[in-house]
Amino acid sequence: MAIRGDFLKYSLKTGRLDFEVADAMTCKTKTPNKRNKIAVVELEVNCPKTKVKTYSHLEKKLGEFAMSFSRNNGRFNIRRIICAAEKLAFVRKVATYSFATVITAVLVFGSVSAIDLRLANEAIINGHPIGVIADKKSFEKLLIDVHSSLETTLGKQVDSFKNHVYISRLVFKKDLSSDYKLRQNLLSTFDEVSQAYAIYAGDRLLCATFEEQSAMGALDRVKAQYAKEGVQMTIDFAEPVTVRKEFVPIGYIRSAEGVFSALTESSEDSQKYTIKHKDTLWSIAREYDMTVDDLIAINDNLTEIIHDGDVILIKKDKPVLSVRTSYIATSEEPIPYDNDEVKDDNLLAGNTVVIKQGTDGKKNVVEEIVSINGDEVERNVKSEEIISNPVGGVVKIGAKAPPTGIASGRLIRPAFGVITSRYGRRSRDFHTGMDFANPIGTPIVAADNGTVEFAGRSGGYGNLIKITHGNGMETYYGHCSAILVKQGQKVSKGQQIGRVGNTGNSTGPHLHFEVRKNGEPQNPQSYLN
Ligand SMILES: [Zn+2]
Repeated sequence: MAIRGDFLKYSLKTGRLDFEVADAMTCKTKTPNKRNKIAVVELEVNCPKTKVKTYSHLEKKLGEFAMSFSRNNGRFNIRRIICAAEKLAFVRKVATYSFATVITAVLVFGSVSAIDLRLANEAIINGHPIGVIADKKSFEKLLIDVHSSLETTLGKQVDSFKNHVYISRLVFKKDLSSDYKLRQNLLSTFDEVSQAYAIYAGDRLLCATFEEQSAMGALDRVKAQYAKEGVQMTIDFAEPVTVRKEFVPIGYIRSAEGVFSALTESSEDSQKYTIKHKDTLWSIAREYDMTVDDLIAINDNLTEIIHDGDVILIKKDKPVLSVRTSYIATSEEPIPYDNDEVKDDNLLAGNTVVIKQGTDGKKNVVEEIVSINGDEVERNVKSEEIISNPVGGVVKIGAKAPPTGIASGRLIRPAFGVITSRYGRRSRDFHTGMDFANPIGTPIVAADNGTVEFAGRSGGYGNLIKITHGNGMETYYGHCSAILVKQGQKVSKGQQIGRVGNTGNSTGPHLHFEVRKNGEPQNPQSYLN
């Protein structure tokens, strides 16, 4: 059937839409397109004054015609009936004038579907066709919204949309432009924005590129930076990342290679610090509420030796796009042993003596190791398998009251061992103390309660400990291999203070012990019980 060029007559008088063969020349047929099978026919509508009250009446009649036409012919469906604006204006006047107008209908091959014709407007802004809209008011609102979001996006003032032209049209509901489409078309009229594949992290626009493949490829490369060879890893972005085709300010648009650089740039988060005189890593860490380990972790090659004027990072650069990786690792870890504690009234409080040494156990730990941008942030234990249990130890805990530092006046022998030299004249010089020969490491104890007056190197004495006992009394312990007390510390009679050694002027391991009264060496023998 030759629908092409057929002439349809719609008589509002009779309410009938007649179908007549028209002159082929009057048909505004678009070149029949094989895929869409579009044919254009013209409808002549007689509009007597008496019958047509409203335009919607005509619309309804056309709809009915379309339905019956489709039904009768089976393979046509009216997709769109287009009226030129001036013709529609006429149609609106049919209440006052009897007139016949011509409506162009586009018939498209296809199955019959519900027909929902309506009067709409084609919006033309500054000469650019933007779309078909149902409601001018909500469209004007959209214009304001698009304008203000454009100003936000570009960060500057932009002329508002002017020169609004609306052309009435009879369309099907599905032919109305979506808000998205209207927005896109409005934005496309601006030179400063362009449609591209925009990469967002959360709601932050990072950059954009014209090729979707470039955007995806760059995102994959960002993730791949954190892959470890031979490790099964889960790699994700730390925030939801989306790629959207939309209008973006042209300043955000990058070349295929530029996208990767833009995604791996640092946000301006890093902070530097210049080392000042007397700074230590510890003092810097404390000032910035970090740990020394944190400082070392973010500064490559940083050691505890720092110099005035050195610049170190106190906050690391954070890439604009953070990557979260996680993988499962198995490691062997010790299980610490516990000690049974036994109180000992003869042992000074604060001192402990191991009676039985405990042994750590071992376990295999399976952990999920989570990192952000390659820095470990979290370890989650997934499972543990005990290889060996720990064996507890036993420790003696001192329960004796702490020293008061008040001398008892009676001295005890500060070390065991053979007395090899006594106080007094010794060949050409005078021996100011008493020597106890014993192997290196033998404990030296305080001869009486007192306060450590000196502990350190002292000429021929080697490592020397001096204790004052009040009333001008002092004791000296020389040639020590180790000093176990500090200056100012209170010690009690019998408390270990050092170990026998061979430091200073000494011919073999021994303790040189002196007793002094008001600075004058005394014979220790007279004070020892
Ligand atoms: Zn001596």
